Amino acid sequence: MREILATLYPYLVLLYLIDCLVYVDKQQVCFISLLGKGFRLVTKGIHLSGLFPFSQSIAAGNLNLHPSESGIYYRSNDSETRGLLNYPEEFRFIPYAYIDNPSPGENKVILNKDVAVKTPSSLFAKKLADRLAGTARTEFAERRELIRNFMKEDADIERIKEIHHSCKHRFGYLEILCTLLFIEFFILLPIALYCLLLPKFILNALLANIGVLYACTVSYTYYLLGKIYGKNSGLKTPVMLSIILSPVAAIHALGYLTKDLFTLFDPAALAAYLLPIEKFKDYMRREIYRIHRACGESDEFGWAEFWQIKLASIRGLLDRLDLKEENLTAQPEKTEDSADSYCPVCRTEYRPGFSFCSDCGVLLTAYAQ
Ligand SMILES: [Zn+2]
Repeated sequence: MREILATLYPYLVLLYLIDCLVYVDKQQVCFISLLGKGFRLVTKGIHLSGLFPFSQSIAAGNLNLHPSESGIYYRSNDSETRGLLNYPEEFRFIPYAYIDNPSPGENKVILNKDVAVKTPSSLFAKKLADRLAGTARTEFAERRELIRNFMKEDADIERIKEIHHSCKHRFGYLEILCTLLFIEFFILLPIALYCLLLPKFILNALLANIGVLYACTVSYTYYLLGKIYGKNSGLKTPVMLSIILSPVAAIHALGYLTKDLFTLFDPAALAAYLLPIEKFKDYMRREIYRIHRACGESDEFGWAEFWQIKLASIRGLLDRLDLKEENLTAQPEKTEDSADSYCPVCRTEYRPGFSFCSDCGVLLTAYAQ
């Protein structure tokens, strides 16, 4: 028994390490914290997220789907894009009359026969399908107000705080279970397996203890999934399968539970709540730039109106945090005398001879004399 477990142990550690990685799809952004505090924002790709039992990764939807009063502008993940900015010609416009009873599927919303919008979760798909159906049913004159209300709901920081606080003590119990599992699996188990001087009954007692802790973690996670997300969230099966098929993944139960906690909120509101203030300002500077540029691109089918409503929502968020748009986008202090322009998004300084930022691809702004 000891020999078999000693051979298997490195493979279990490898399984754990694989489970520490998170894949962020194009239609989402993710806030990652290795220590449960001090989040950072990551976008498309594979990232290290769950090295410890108290690590968290919180996903938010970041779809290229913009509702206007007449229909939706949609760009699929596979479309060719020119980078950071939103150009209306890269989007497909679908009038509400052509959206045929939008129905939520597993991580997607089917709009009509030829359009299926990929979503970051089934929860998100349900919300999107309900909203599109609701907007299509609403009179044209009232749609602008409806879209404004949806944005307000998505950017409600107070609601985010409320949800977070209501879950805190529940997550606290789970954190204790996962931390005990982590200590027993990574510290005590290798000692009991590889230190042959220790009597066998110690290993047996430890295995029994790990078994009990695992059973408690699995059942408590199952209970919390129902309590936090409701019966029909579509999350129970994938999460439970993950931690049953790969038992070491139970150490990450907290990460599995927090991942979709705020998926229905605007990433900007989550950035305001989770990111350090300077990182949040960087995020907002980029968003404001993108929105202003998008506003001027077209006024067809409500494109400009959508971005103006979005800008108003972003300004509302800044007001709640006592921040001013003009301060965020103000010209930065020059650190090199030879610099004559800067990137309005990442604020990198450039010497004469450059027109575009090499990181962001946007047109540089000349320093005012
Ligand atoms: Zn830049």
